[in-house]
Amino acid sequence: MNIILFGPPGAGKGTQAKLLQNEYNIPHLSTGDIFRSAIKNKTPLGVKVKSILDAGELVPDETVVDLVAAELSREKYQDGYILDGFPRTVAQAEAFDKFLDENDDSLDAFISLSVPEEELIKRILSRGEGRSDDTEEKIKTRLEVYRKETKPVMDYYKKQDKVQEIDGLGSIDEILERIKSALN
Ligand code: AMP
Repeated sequence: MNIILFGPPGAGKGTQAKLLQNEYNIPHLSTGDIFRSAIKNKTPLGVKVKSILDAGELVPDETVVDLVAAELSREKYQDGYILDGFPRTVAQAEAFDKFLDENDDSLDAFISLSVPEEELIKRILSRGEGRSDDTEEKIKTRLEVYRKETKPVMDYYKKQDKVQEIDGLGSIDEILERIKSALN
């Protein structure tokens, strides 16, 4: 099963992706986690993307698409995966469709978590993960980037009739149950 978990920053994608990974026994791929780990380890990729993440902007499409294609070609993803934080632009979504096509594969579900903006800001400021982009100013930039660049991705998948919108307000367990019933 190939799933995209979609939503604005702070919607709970990472939390839910980890729970779904255990529930369905399919690996979770977070592009944000890969970038943060590359930055921490000062790899060439990390050096390249650090200032972009710090600013709350998007890493160039080509870099992200190449990374995801290489990652998804690994053995551990062959029985399915949960994508968190990708695709984030329409160009990435188109490239991902091409990748699926070339691999005779397809997308099974596009789950979008909806959460009002005031709640997103509150959640990010209180999650205390120590992320350099979790400051009030950077959150504003990230939400702006989400509205302009990422939200259109949902319309892209709506045209394919793939989008299931889930209410992202409530307890972690309640939201997990909603996602599970959407998937079943
Ligand atoms: P996240 O952990 O998903 O919030 O991602 C953190 C940051 O990593 C984002 O603000 C971007 O700078 C970068 N990033 C993660 N995924 C992508 C993507 N698919 N396209 C471009 N930039 C990304």
